[in-house]
Amino acid sequence: MIRNFLFHRVHPQRDELWDPMDVSLFDKCISYISRHYEVMLLEDLISLPDLKTKANSNIATIMFDDGYKDNLIYAAPILAKYNCKASFYVVTDCIDKNIPTWTHILEHIFQYTNKSNINLIFDFLPLELQVTELATEEIRMDYLRVLIPFLKTITHENRNLVINRVTETFNDIGLPKIMMDWSDLLELKKAGHYIGSHTVTHCMLGTMSNEVEITEELLVSGQMIEKHLGYFPKTISYPVGSHNDTTIRLSKEVGYIAGLVVKQKLYDPAKDSIFEIPRIELYNENWFKTKLRILNVIEPLKEFLRYK
Ligand SMILES: [Zn+2]
Repeated sequence: MIRNFLFHRVHPQRDELWDPMDVSLFDKCISYISRHYEVMLLEDLISLPDLKTKANSNIATIMFDDGYKDNLIYAAPILAKYNCKASFYVVTDCIDKNIPTWTHILEHIFQYTNKSNINLIFDFLPLELQVTELATEEIRMDYLRVLIPFLKTITHENRNLVINRVTETFNDIGLPKIMMDWSDLLELKKAGHYIGSHTVTHCMLGTMSNEVEITEELLVSGQMIEKHLGYFPKTISYPVGSHNDTTIRLSKEVGYIAGLVVKQKLYDPAKDSIFEIPRIELYNENWFKTKLRILNVIEPLKEFLRYK
C-alpha cells in the first residue's frame, strides 16, 4: 500500500483559527517518513507501467495543498535535508494575486475588521446565520465557526454570494500576503519538486453544476502552470476533496491523468480509482498522534469501533 501524506501550512508561529504545522513537528515527520518509507513523487509513481502491482510496496509521497509561502521558507529546506521530493498543488488565482483561499479570507476579515453591520439575510442560509450585525470579534468568530462548514455544503453560486457580501462590506482591512508567487514555484520545480493544480479559485468542484465553469477551473489552472512552469500538470487536487463523477469526467477531458482526494486512508493502486487517490492529512498535533496517523492506525481503529 502507498501512503500519501498531505500538509498545508508549516510555520513556527501559532494561529488560533487554522494552526499551521510547527516546523519542528514537520522535521520529525519527514525524518520519520524518509527513514521508514521509500519517498517518491506521486507524479513519478503514477507513471510507472507496473503501478497496479505496487499494492505491497513501502512507498510514501509528500504533498502540500494551496501554495503557501511558508512551504518554500520552512518546509523546502527540511525536504532538502532528508533528500525528499514533494508535490505542491496550487490555486492559480491565489498565486497570481497573492490572496489566500476563500476560507482564509473570511477568517482574516472576520478577525480584523472594525465594522459590525452586515446584511447576511440570504434565504439559503439557516435562520441562525441570517444576521445584520456582528458586533464584536468574538461574535464574528463564533459565527464564522458555523458559517464556514455550512458554506462547504452549499452551491458554488450561493457560496460566492456570501463571500462577496462579506468582502464588500468588511472592506476596511487588507489581506495577508502568505502565498507563493510563480518565481517561488519555479525554484521548487528546479529543486526537483512537482507543481500540480488545485483549481483557479479553490472552488469546491463537487458542488458546482455549470460544466463550463468547472472546465474553466480545471483547464485554466493547468494552462497557467503550463505558461509559467512549462508543462500541463498531470495531477489535480480537488479543493477540500470535493468532487463527483462530473468532476472526474471533465478532469480527464482537459488532460489530467490523476485526481487527489483527502480520505485519511492508504492508497491501493489495484483498487482505488486513479481519479480518487486518497491522502492522509497531517495536522499540528502531538508526535504520538501524528505517528498514529502516519502509521494509519487512527482511522481503521475508528472504523473498528463503529462495529459493535
Ligand atoms: Zn486546499
